[in-house]
Amino acid sequence: MTIYNSTSELIGNTPLIRLNHVTDGIKATIAAKVEYFNPGGSSKDRIAERIVDAAERSGELKPGGVIVEPTSGNTGVGLAMVAQQRGYRAIFTMPDKVSEAKRAVLRAYGAEVIVTPTDAGPNDPRSYYQVAERLAQEIPGGYRPNQYDNPNGPESHYHTTGPEIWQATDHKVTHFVAGIGTGGTISGTGRYLKEVSDGKVQVIGSDPEGSIYSDPSDVHQYKIEGVGEDFYPKAFDRDLPDEIVQVADAEAFEMTRRLAAEEGLLVGGSAGMAVVSAVKYARKHDLDENQTVVVLLPDSGRSYLEKIFNDDWMRANGFGDVVDRTTKPSLAE
Ligand code: PMP
Repeated sequence: MTIYNSTSELIGNTPLIRLNHVTDGIKATIAAKVEYFNPGGSSKDRIAERIVDAAERSGELKPGGVIVEPTSGNTGVGLAMVAQQRGYRAIFTMPDKVSEAKRAVLRAYGAEVIVTPTDAGPNDPRSYYQVAERLAQEIPGGYRPNQYDNPNGPESHYHTTGPEIWQATDHKVTHFVAGIGTGGTISGTGRYLKEVSDGKVQVIGSDPEGSIYSDPSDVHQYKIEGVGEDFYPKAFDRDLPDEIVQVADAEAFEMTRRLAAEEGLLVGGSAGMAVVSAVKYARKHDLDENQTVVVLLPDSGRSYLEKIFNDDWMRANGFGDVVDRTTKPSLAE
């Protein structure tokens, strides 16, 4: 009989699943590390647990404490789950571009959500960063995990995601592709894979058009959630990626819809983006059957049913041609 003591025991050890259809013509193995198998539904469960453990050890988070964090949702879910299990109050701030579904999940775990304007820059007092900063100082027992600066974010991936990929591929992984948000995933996983392979594993960042990482001279808004930035967080080791492959919203959303329709993988827009980068990279470098590319898919498409998977939202946001290319003609037509 196997009965787990709590959901925390199910964090990590997510599967690698071969992509068979969206990789048309590519000879290399492209394997997706599917992070929605984590109990909170994303890769962020990994960092939440390690960050809270470290804060308890250092005394920054005390019994009865309040976790306050600006998050687009997934880190919130991870932290809300850990907070619920350990008896902490949790408050999250996030920009209004984030889907209502993501906010509802946080409230369901018992957390509080504060929504801020997307167009408020990082130094604006109304921005989600600044509001969280102020609340953490004002509320007694307030603790700010600060996923953008917290070394336990990348550390969690160094100790879990990296070793899992190395073992699951029998040390055959040659490339690792991940989107860059805080940079924790790519920095921690990438550093581990570089170390164990004597620098042989190539680390490829995936970044939305408009983000600072791939083009600091052209920073503007984009629709893909959870990735890209307009500043450089400490969690991101800028020297680590061997290459960063830029992806447009439309390309990412088209791939996201194809992953569900052609691979049976209902994943989020940043996962679609990462797969586009993997495919572009494999084509550009003409990767062959001796190469094994692992691409990390951070979360589930369930949080985006009202957006990427909603034809009306897609058309209203200028992605009508993507809808046309990814929708099967109905019998009625
Ligand atoms: N995708 C989604 C949906 C996310 O929420 C995040 C985290 N912001 C990422 C990708 C990027 O992960 P990281 O912060 O580790 O770079």
